[in-house]
Amino acid sequence: MNTRIIIISLLIFLLSAVSFSQVTRNEKLFEEVKKYGEAEVVISYPGRNAIELITRNVSITAVKDKKVYISLTAATLNWFLSQKFDYEVVEKEPAKGIISASSVSGAMEWDSYPTYTQYDSIMRKFQADYPQLCRLDTIGTSIMGRLVLVLKISDNVNDDEPEPEVFYSSTIHGDELGGFVLMLRLADYLLKNYNTDSRVRNLVDNLEIWINPLANPDGTYRTGNEIISPTRSNANGIDLNRNFPDPMNPSIVPEKENIDMMAFMRKRRFVLSANFHSGFEVVNFPWDRWLSKYHADHDWFYYISRKYADTVHVYSGPAYMNYYDNGVVRGAEWYIIYGGRQDFITWELQGREVTIELDDIKQTPAAQLELLWQYNRQSLIGYLENALYGIHGRVVDAVTKKPVPAKIYIAGHDKDSSHVYADSLTGYFTRFLAQGSWNLTFSATGYRDTVVQGVNVVNNQRTDLYVEMKSTPTDIDSVNPEKPLLFPNPSSDIIECRLPDSITGQVKVSVINSNGVKILEYLTSDRPVILNVAYLDAGVYTVVFKSTVTGHSASSRFVVYSRHY
Ligand SMILES: [Zn+2]
Repeated sequence: MNTRIIIISLLIFLLSAVSFSQVTRNEKLFEEVKKYGEAEVVISYPGRNAIELITRNVSITAVKDKKVYISLTAATLNWFLSQKFDYEVVEKEPAKGIISASSVSGAMEWDSYPTYTQYDSIMRKFQADYPQLCRLDTIGTSIMGRLVLVLKISDNVNDDEPEPEVFYSSTIHGDELGGFVLMLRLADYLLKNYNTDSRVRNLVDNLEIWINPLANPDGTYRTGNEIISPTRSNANGIDLNRNFPDPMNPSIVPEKENIDMMAFMRKRRFVLSANFHSGFEVVNFPWDRWLSKYHADHDWFYYISRKYADTVHVYSGPAYMNYYDNGVVRGAEWYIIYGGRQDFITWELQGREVTIELDDIKQTPAAQLELLWQYNRQSLIGYLENALYGIHGRVVDAVTKKPVPAKIYIAGHDKDSSHVYADSLTGYFTRFLAQGSWNLTFSATGYRDTVVQGVNVVNNQRTDLYVEMKSTPTDIDSVNPEKPLLFPNPSSDIIECRLPDSITGQVKVSVINSNGVKILEYLTSDRPVILNVAYLDAGVYTVVFKSTVTGHSASSRFVVYSRHY
């Protein structure tokens, strides 16, 4: 053979070797997804623009050491392969440290993982053992029909008191396990120590604490009653924390679990929340979706995130939770995601949520659960205490003293949906702000804007505020008891409708457009009536509420505006 032939043969050999290895690698990936429900791959960091494309299509799980980790399921595998990335399959973490408890009481030693039935029993036991302080509720059901459970912990637990509502939730990624046991243990700790620990008592008495230890039960218990090979995604192979409505990715269609979660969160209107994950060690705060935008309350978010991580370090030493700015990062600086719950709550529901990454290891070995608790216990308590600070106020009509569902904002400061609303039924509101002096504007249909100047906010202290609003004589909507009170109005998504007292029981709700065409009609007994206008075209509408009990009716007009992002 001459040299030329040798070189050509060698080239052919190399080319076929390359494609052969690609095929086997792809096959291995398919097999892995088939066997475990998902697989993790790693590519080298391709730059921010490429990340932007990737994060819209597949689930990035972490960016570290100039590498991008990506979780793939049957739903996303083909897109990933079509991009022809040079990738490696990440070996699955050995799950040998995931020891299942042998009994409910064994599980409640908090050094093993409960089976699904044990988890269910523990949640019921909390309510049974502390009926005055703890109520078991359900957020919804998973695709496979498992209950998504939540505990409410508060004094007078069966009453809906005008107290700040706070929310802890974990393991929306079914294979990120540490936070699951941590949440159960926190509930146990709050209930057990209520009578003896003044700090715990202060929280339970003055907040309505909701704890959802397991947001994705189908992922965690994919293979059955024990945790054997859990998945990040739900039973449809969808990453639930990339699946909330997002103005930057309108193609997202929420999964069953998230539809239920959104309804629950809309109803409760949490003022402060946290979502617990593993795979990294950092407190991540908004925004996840915008690198160029800072949240109006960035300084406050940084302060509470810093406090969480700094308190952790007191108990863990400096080697734990020290990524980025010593354990704190603005989400998009780590990597951009769309459809995350943190941004959804903070943007859509005027809440304040952070994402807490508890452990580098997604599946914290059972033997390390005790340490995880010791490191985080004080921070978990301290984070909830943030809800007791800031401005707590009530907005009422100057004459009738009835609550006014005002919009509350700070001119020149608020942006990107950072304002808050007073509760329609009680007039209460909570506003967290960085230390300083603030001018608050109160605005409501039928009222003159009211500005309260120089409201002082001090870190770790509560400021109380009582605001009376004067109605404008030209607009009788909010003082005439026969008129429904709608807010926000105009709206682009949800309008809460407070009906006059004469409209009792079940009502027929009819929505009529400006051409007089009835476009929506349904029955409801909910109060307030929640009108979803997200799918209506921009324009002016009339809504009529007719009681099917008394026959009384009342109507009002509202405006839908289109969103521009
Ligand atoms: Zn996660």
